[in-house]
Amino acid sequence: MEKHDHVLVVFPHPDDEAFGVSGSIASFIQNGTPVTYMCLTLGEMGRNMGNPPFANRETLPLIRKKELTAACDVLGIKDVRMMGYRDKTIEFEDNALIAKQVTDVIDELKPTLVITFYPGYSVHPDHDSCGEAVIEAVRKLPESERPKVECVAFSNNCVEELGEADVSRDVSTVQDKKISTIEAHRSQTAGLIAGVKKRLKANEEELLNWLQKERFWTYKFD
Ligand SMILES: [Zn+2]
Repeated sequence: MEKHDHVLVVFPHPDDEAFGVSGSIASFIQNGTPVTYMCLTLGEMGRNMGNPPFANRETLPLIRKKELTAACDVLGIKDVRMMGYRDKTIEFEDNALIAKQVTDVIDELKPTLVITFYPGYSVHPDHDSCGEAVIEAVRKLPESERPKVECVAFSNNCVEELGEADVSRDVSTVQDKKISTIEAHRSQTAGLIAGVKKRLKANEEELLNWLQKERFWTYKFD
């Protein structure tokens, strides 16, 4: 696995880090690379309230905050920054302000790799806006100082328009941590995780592929 000095992960929702990225995060940390996670919201508009339900609209933010902390503990992330934006409103926020906050963290930590969503290819408006702010922040840096930016994309047209992902990481050695990270976001994933475990037991190829391989698109700034 490639060596990095520091990895910065920027996503809008608790659990965005869990699905397609937690294997990479766990691998970096296992190799001694510190990872900082900027999470823009607490996902307080999340549709799920637990299965069976144990949250309500009032308690969900606090519950998701605890789940995020638990997920970070599983992964070994020691520096998680909860940015206090409101869920489902990132597209209406001042993108320049979010970009400035990302710039400040880049100045502080000098990450050599930044991971975020690919703007326009990440399905949810919060995801796309988050990715836009990060790209804007990195674009402003002198070319020689720019960290590598790896993007997660999962819209139906992403491969058609972006080509195949150029980064594919085998994270099979940390697959248990990945499952535990997804599981930590209990209010949102309890239903899903039961299915994952069942399919895992059956050694289902599609599931193993999803679990053990993480793919990213390196953002090209020209
Ligand atoms: Zn999300």
